[in-house]
Amino acid sequence: DGPGGTGKSTVSRVVAHKAGLPHLDTGAYYRAATLAVVEAGSDPHDAEKVVDIVAGKRFAQESGHMYLNGQDVSEAIREEKVTAAVSAVSAHPSVRRLLVAEQRAWIERHAGNGVVEGRDIGSVVFPDADLKIYLDASAEERARRRARETGEDYDAVLADLNRRDRFDSTRVASPLVIPDGAVVIDTSELTFDEVVQRLLGLIRAMT
Ligand code: C5P
Repeated sequence: DGPGGTGKSTVSRVVAHKAGLPHLDTGAYYRAATLAVVEAGSDPHDAEKVVDIVAGKRFAQESGHMYLNGQDVSEAIREEKVTAAVSAVSAHPSVRRLLVAEQRAWIERHAGNGVVEGRDIGSVVFPDADLKIYLDASAEERARRRARETGEDYDAVLADLNRRDRFDSTRVASPLVIPDGAVVIDTSELTFDEVVQRLLGLIRAMT
């Protein structure tokens, strides 16, 4: 778990690979649901319409690809119009209920094992997880990394990160919190490899 721009996406993928575990990107489910809403031309704040659209869709994730009604939407869900609306769609409690059930089913199909990346994993989706990790970093560092990665303007990225953080941590349904019992790692002063090694050490210490 952790806010955007902490490197949790890449870190969790690399850790999963090195630990020989499957990886689940839960943000991709919220993005796929948002893509469906955007494509339907609906208002992402309209709870009733949004739930109607999302409840009628099939979601699947396999080998790092996200599928919506059987179609590979891995690229489409990264588009700006999806990023702009995803916080609003993921704030609806009924959307979360549907997608959390999908995520739990995914882990069950994988024999209860996996590295799961998201914002409510240790607090809501898997409160009994064997290991909970919360990655953090200062807003400025997170914006610097994302701007470097995407080539976008630093000030615009910082403003967008702050907006999404505020929205995700103040929403009523499953706000972004540090889960009980989570190991908090501030990645601001650590290199990518140091973060990966620290996580692998925690996994090794468990077994
Ligand atoms: O991690 P990513 O940027 O793909 O997540 C997109 C959005 O999905 C987040 O900004 C957040 O609003 C939502 N999300 C969520 N709960 C999760 C994962 C993502 O609410 N477990």
